[in-house]
Amino acid sequence: MVITKNEQALFFKTLDFLPTPTLIAKEDKYNHRGNIIFVNKAFIKTIGYNVADIPDHLSFISKAYPDIVYRHKITETWLDRIEQLVKRETSLVQLCSKVYCKDQKYRWFDIRTEMKSTIGKGMVIVLFNNVDKAKAEVLQYAKLASIDPLTKLANRRYIQQLLQQEKSHQERGNQIEPFSLVMADIDLFKQVNDTYGHSCGDYVIEAVAKIMRQATRKMDAVARWGGEEYLLLLPQTNTIEARIVVKKIMKRISDYAFVWEGRRFSVTLTYGITVYYADEETNETIKRVDQCLYQGKKMGRNCIVSDGLVEV
Ligand code: GH3
Ligand code: MG
Ligand code: MG
Repeated sequence: MVITKNEQALFFKTLDFLPTPTLIAKEDKYNHRGNIIFVNKAFIKTIGYNVADIPDHLSFISKAYPDIVYRHKITETWLDRIEQLVKRETSLVQLCSKVYCKDQKYRWFDIRTEMKSTIGKGMVIVLFNNVDKAKAEVLQYAKLASIDPLTKLANRRYIQQLLQQEKSHQERGNQIEPFSLVMADIDLFKQVNDTYGHSCGDYVIEAVAKIMRQATRKMDAVARWGGEEYLLLLPQTNTIEARIVVKKIMKRISDYAFVWEGRRFSVTLTYGITVYYADEETNETIKRVDQCLYQGKKMGRNCIVSDGLVEV
């Protein structure tokens, strides 16, 4: 379809009335991926860039996706979608991504384009439907579903996911170093509840969680595995290094002043440590670390059992 200059001007003017941010790219013989020839008012209002800021496809993606890793991921996904589209013989490409806007804020958009141009030779229309609100809700739900409300640690479900990710990471060969698991359980916790009350029990669970979080690295995951049980996932860590981490936690817990209604008391935990064996299922690693912990309890508590070896 060929349209005249006047028709094109009228068309662009109409797009200014559209509430959806929209851009139009046009390929030429020097730039087959497209020069950006028009952005509507809604685009400037929400995303901020005008045609002078993003004269072509490449300047748009470098501005919208300043993070190189994310940019790469988006570009790959986009190319993937185009490939699928050729197979399915449709022409609509759709992608959801966060875009870095001119006001230095990220916003989420459902981005759609018709690859087979319908509005004039070589022209492509791209619509940016703002999905910030929906995305924020999804992220909020995901967060709520993965966090333990008392301690704000990862919950059991979430650490199982993280564990699965770590396993795949290893299988892809990205990670030569092993990862270790630590399972810890507060000793004779029932007595704390019975002596000082359930609220004091909660206070102890929370305080121990905080100490564990502070004694570990950012890349480590600390989770509430159950009532007074914690599971730590330590990437790039063997059992010897994991034992150093556990010793640090033990020292901090023993130095910590647990006080409830003016009464001071001490708290100890028993710890199991194991390392992930290549190719095993993650529930096997968990089972092994749980057995180590159980052995520690049998040995008299307040100790570390690392792959069967007891250390008091
Ligand atoms: P052990 O050293 O063998 O682990 O003894 P224990 O007393 O710690 O173990 P047991 O499993 O007998 O008791 C755990 C108690 O933890 C029982 C349960 O009521 C309590 N508990 C579990 N979750 C919570 C919680 O969220 N808050 C409080 N306050 N108590 C909890
Ligand atoms: Mg216990
Ligand atoms: Mg327990």
